[in-house]
Amino acid sequence: MALFDLPPWMVSLLLAPFGLVLGSFGNVLIHRLPQEEPADRNVITKASHCPGCKAKIKPWHNVPLFGWLWLRGKCAACGWKIPFRYPLVELLTGLLFAASPWVFPFGTLIWFKGLVCGFALIVLFFTDFTEMMLPDVLQFPLMVLGVLLTLPQIFRPEALVNVWSGQNTLLQTLTFHNGLQPAPAYHGFEPAVTWQASLIGMTVGYGVPALVNQLYKWIRKADGLGMGDFKMLAWLGAFWGWAPMLGILFVGAALGAAVGVPLMLLRRSNGQTMLPFGCFLAVATPVIVFFGRALWLGYLGWMA
Ligand SMILES: [Zn+2]
Repeated sequence: MALFDLPPWMVSLLLAPFGLVLGSFGNVLIHRLPQEEPADRNVITKASHCPGCKAKIKPWHNVPLFGWLWLRGKCAACGWKIPFRYPLVELLTGLLFAASPWVFPFGTLIWFKGLVCGFALIVLFFTDFTEMMLPDVLQFPLMVLGVLLTLPQIFRPEALVNVWSGQNTLLQTLTFHNGLQPAPAYHGFEPAVTWQASLIGMTVGYGVPALVNQLYKWIRKADGLGMGDFKMLAWLGAFWGWAPMLGILFVGAALGAAVGVPLMLLRRSNGQTMLPFGCFLAVATPVIVFFGRALWLGYLGWMA
């Protein structure tokens, strides 16, 4: 495939527009999925409209990033201030696509996994940040997809694809390789995520907390925890395996404490302040995906 032989910067330029358009759809998901009314959760057939005045948005005002710049951040019909989140999500998704061939070998399964995971994290970060919720309709399919993506390497372990290395040379890598690798270049593959590691990751991430939560509800006859965070851990476990999932939980909890404790002291709150934990998990994931092995080895070296 000639497309796969293009140097990364050219692939970046080709991918960025797709990222901007997907980011625009990401804004639709972020706005509509947390809605109460089922009709308002329609993300497929309902046309884009201004949340301020319900006016339909003209196609040329709906162009990712540029539409917002052209309108100077205001609805053309009513002047409703379009939140900065809209261009930000488009920009982040565009950057995700543009950066992808630099950190994952373009055209391989792990590249695809990186894009899906990255886009899902952008959407979930903002649904959790703005509405304190992580929609099931995204997280359950992600669990299934994470496990399914471990299967191709079983049936086609030898399939190869050409990719550019950092030194401007073509090299061949396994198309369906599925493991982790350190950023920024992909010379050293981590072992692939097996279907077993994926299933264990999903079960430990969600199944165990769900069981504890159910027991708690029976014993205390009260509402348990919000399970959205655990569902997020479950699909991250299905994507990257159980061990990185635990790393994400650890780094996410550390980030949450680093932000939450000063915030509690500042507000003198009584521990009732709710933090969107999904946001911290979303930030922790790339840290572990790219640097998890280095962090773990560093930790073991420090312990010894
Ligand atoms: Zn409007």
